[in-house]
Amino acid sequence: MNRVSKLFQPINKIPKSATIKHKEITSKSQRLMLDLGIIKLASPGTFHLLPLGVRALEKLKSFIDKEMHKINAQKLALPALTQAELWEKSGRLNNSAELFTVTDRHKNLYILSPTHEEAITDLLASIAPLSYKNFPLRLYQITSKYRDEMKTRFGLMRGRQFLMKDLYTFDIDMKNAEQTYSEVIKGYENIFNTIGIDFNQVLAATGNIGGLISHEFHYTADVGEDKLLFCLNCNYKGNVEVSGMDYCPQCKSNKIMVKNGIEVAHTFLLGDKYSKPLNATYLDRNGLTANLQMGCYGLGISRLLGAAVEVLSLEQELRWPLILAPYKVVIISPKAGSKEEAFTLGFDQELYDNIDQLDGYAGNVLLDDRNHLTIGKRHLEARRMGYPYVIVIGSKATGSTPLYEINEIVTNKQHLLDRNELLQYF
Ligand code: ATP
Ligand code: MG
Ligand code: MG
Ligand code: MG
Repeated sequence: MNRVSKLFQPINKIPKSATIKHKEITSKSQRLMLDLGIIKLASPGTFHLLPLGVRALEKLKSFIDKEMHKINAQKLALPALTQAELWEKSGRLNNSAELFTVTDRHKNLYILSPTHEEAITDLLASIAPLSYKNFPLRLYQITSKYRDEMKTRFGLMRGRQFLMKDLYTFDIDMKNAEQTYSEVIKGYENIFNTIGIDFNQVLAATGNIGGLISHEFHYTADVGEDKLLFCLNCNYKGNVEVSGMDYCPQCKSNKIMVKNGIEVAHTFLLGDKYSKPLNATYLDRNGLTANLQMGCYGLGISRLLGAAVEVLSLEQELRWPLILAPYKVVIISPKAGSKEEAFTLGFDQELYDNIDQLDGYAGNVLLDDRNHLTIGKRHLEARRMGYPYVIVIGSKATGSTPLYEINEIVTNKQHLLDRNELLQYF
C-alpha cells in the first residue's frame, strides 16, 4: 500500500526553496519541484531525482516505449562513453563547445556522449555486410546525455546531465528515408497530442547535428529560450534560427508573431552525413556497396517533464499531464480522534483496494494516512502536489450510506458520491 507517511519526499515547509540561494531558482517548475520534494539539486545542472520524480519519469518512459513500438522502433542501449576518434571522423570533435571528455589510464580520449549519432553509426558499420533486406531499421534508446552547458538553468529543462530518448533510423535510399521521416513525425505528433499540452511543430535549423531537413517541437512559455516565428499570412511556423525575426521566410509577409518556445524534441533527416565518414554501408540488390541514409530524432525526456510542469502549474500548485502524475488518486482519511474516524474505521483501506483494482489505477492510489494532521492541511498539500483526484473521507461518510467527497484538482469540481458511484466515476 502506498502511504504518504512512508514517502521519501522532503517538502520545504518554508517556500522559495530555502536551502538554495534564491537566484539559482530560475523557473516556476524548478521551484515547485524542489519545494515539493520531487528533485534535489546535486551540483549545477545535475539533479537527484527523488521517488515522485522517478515515478513521473518512468511513466513518461514507458509511454514513449509504447509509442516507439507503434512505429516499429526497437530499443537498445549504447554506452555513455564514446571514443573521441569517432567524433574526429565525423568532424564534430573540434566544433562542439559543450563536450565533456575523459581520458583513461592509457591516455585514450573518450566523450561523455551528448548524443549518439557517431556511436550508433559505428555500430551499424561494425556489423557489415548488412543486406538491403535488413532495412528499414529503427533503433532508439532512453539514456543520460552529458553536455557542458554554458548556462544551466530552469531545473530539469537545461541540465548538464539529462535524459533523452534518441531514435536513429536507417534506410537504403533517400526516398525511403523521407518516408521514414514523415512516419516518425506522425508518431511524435501522436505523442504530443496524447500528453495534451498545446505544442508547435516548427521548421528548424540543422545546426551542429547537420542534415537536410529538421523540425522542432515546442511548448510556448515565457522561460522558453528559443524564439519562434508564426506567420499570420501563410501559417508558416519556424525557429527564428532559420528565418530571422523580421518577416516570414516563406511568403515574405511581415504579419508575423514571435513567441518564446521550449524545445522539447528535435528531428533531423540526415542523409549520409554520418554514414559516409563512418562507413555505414549495405549491399544493394546487385551486391554493390552503398551508404545508408539516416535520420535522428531526439526527445528530451527530463526536459519534457520540466516543461510540462512549467506550462501547466499555478504559481504555488504543481500540475501534471494526467498520464505523468506520480499518483492519480489520493485518499485522505479522517483526523485521529475525530468522530468521523470512529464512524469510518477501515473505510480508507477498503476504498484504496477498490480503486487500486480498477483498470489504469493499479499502483496509482496513495493513502494520506498522516492522520495527526487535519483533513484541510492534507487536502491543501494534495492540491499543491497536483494529484488529479483527491478523495476526502469526511463528515458525510458517517451516514447510513457513506458519501465521499471527490475533488477534481484540474477542473476544481467537487462531487459527493457513495461507494458504487465513486467506483463508477473512475
Ligand atoms: P537547446 O537548443 O535547448 O540547447 P539542443 O538543440 O541543443 O537544445 P538537441 O541536440 O536537439 O538539443 O537534443 C535533443 C533534445 O534534447 C532537445 O530537443 C531537448 O529536448 C533535449 N535537451 C537538449 N539539451 C538539453 C539540456 N541541457 N537539458 C535537458 N534537455 C536537453
Ligand atoms: Mg543545446
Ligand atoms: Mg536547439
Ligand atoms: Mg535541437
